[in-house]
Amino acid sequence: MREIIDFHTHPYETLEECSCMYKDSFFLSSEEAKADLQNAGITHICGSVIEPGRDCAKEGFAYIRRLNDKACKLEQDYQGYYTPGFHVHPDYVRESCEEIERMHKKGLRLIGELVPYMHGWSDYSNRNFAEILDVAEQYGMIISYHTVEKEAEQMERMISEHKKLIFVAAHPGQRAGYEQHIERMSRHENAWLDLSGTGLFRYGMLSYGVKKLGSERILFGTDYPICNPGMYVQAVLHEHITDKERENIFSGNAKRLFSARQKQPGRTKGRRDAVYYFIFDNRKKSR
Ligand SMILES: [Zn+2]
Repeated sequence: MREIIDFHTHPYETLEECSCMYKDSFFLSSEEAKADLQNAGITHICGSVIEPGRDCAKEGFAYIRRLNDKACKLEQDYQGYYTPGFHVHPDYVRESCEEIERMHKKGLRLIGELVPYMHGWSDYSNRNFAEILDVAEQYGMIISYHTVEKEAEQMERMISEHKKLIFVAAHPGQRAGYEQHIERMSRHENAWLDLSGTGLFRYGMLSYGVKKLGSERILFGTDYPICNPGMYVQAVLHEHITDKERENIFSGNAKRLFSARQKQPGRTKGRRDAVYYFIFDNRKKSR
């Protein structure tokens, strides 16, 4: 059987967490959603829990932690079918770093998809976020992030300042945005792309990207349940690329990415604390 890992989904339990645009008439339980994805040919999913349309500003970091806890709960519900991604927030540096440590202990290696536009922040190059990424780097995390075309410079800075982190950009976009991704990826080996959201329905986009960059840093993704997973699987199947390239995109690259992270040894307590306090001590000094 063909393995297809959907790197970019948003599993949900409640109506509030469901990102489907037509959820008033189409809402599935976890069990039904798993069967739905399997019917499309998808054998594993990854991603974060989100709550579209909710103003979370008043709830502070407790809100972020709640979404992350829900992702861990859904991991149980999906019984090995789902690899959770978790959120961090630059307004809460210490809490975010502690969250990285907490999630690392649970074996999680994926941060995101990060959705700053839903969580009231912007600017991927902001200094607080850079501190969180310093810690994420120490813990061997993978960063999945919603791309913002007008933040090209900020994204460039984020990626170039953290060369050991893999940054998986979400959404190829229309041609202009996609060209921006391709240029960024040719400058930075640690810049990857997932196929979720806008882009893949433009016929030929995948073979174009593979010709420019190779297939090794492109991950299959849908943005389920916002997007129709069957359509994305069929689009990749129908693109004019080789079987090996297709296999890389459907599952090979994601497996390589996660297995490299899982092999990274856990940090000893002393060393982990040293990293943590180095960052915070310096921060206090600079105030
Ligand atoms: Zn998404």
